Amino acid sequence: MSTLKVMIGRDEIRSKTKELAARISEDYKDKDLLMVCVLKGGFMFMADLAREMTIDVNLDFISCSSYGSATVSSGVVRILKDIDYDITGKHILIVEDLIDTGLTLKYLKDLFAAKGCASVKVCTILDKPSRRRVVMEPDYEGIIIPDAFVVGYGLDYAEKYRNLPDVCIVCDD
Ligand code: 5GP
Repeated sequence: MSTLKVMIGRDEIRSKTKELAARISEDYKDKDLLMVCVLKGGFMFMADLAREMTIDVNLDFISCSSYGSATVSSGVVRILKDIDYDITGKHILIVEDLIDTGLTLKYLKDLFAAKGCASVKVCTILDKPSRRRVVMEPDYEGIIIPDAFVVGYGLDYAEKYRNLPDVCIVCDD
């Protein structure tokens, strides 16, 4: 049996998301913004963030392998589903659930830059800066969390728990 302990509750997530959306809406009010969600973990944050935006935006989705079902990063990034848009000249905002080692985002930022976008920035709802293996500072940072494996709010453990509205720790009984 395992029990779930709430680490970050839905109210804190909601208010941080509103704050981030207000900042992003202001910063991109005169620009063509394409928000790119990193699947699967980013789906819930993307939906909430997009709903709070007060400017017109385009939405797209990318999927890349990171953890599989294990809890340790392989460091290998593979694109499983690419974005649909031609990003030439577009301002890209990558929307992430959580930055851990930073390897995925470093790869994605370099990939988008090489495809000729006008700019590429990063927004994450959760951040574990103590785990970084490469330099990766989010431009829009949500909530800093300690080095623990978390689930919920899009994040899974072996594809379970993604639908939880809070960010939780799994405790084995
Ligand atoms: P990074 O490339 O920064 O090491 O990994 C980023 C991705 O790994 C996150 O978007 C997330 O999907 C996954 N990840 C990192 N830490 C955790 C964690 O504590 N729990 C879960 N479920 N996934 C994590």
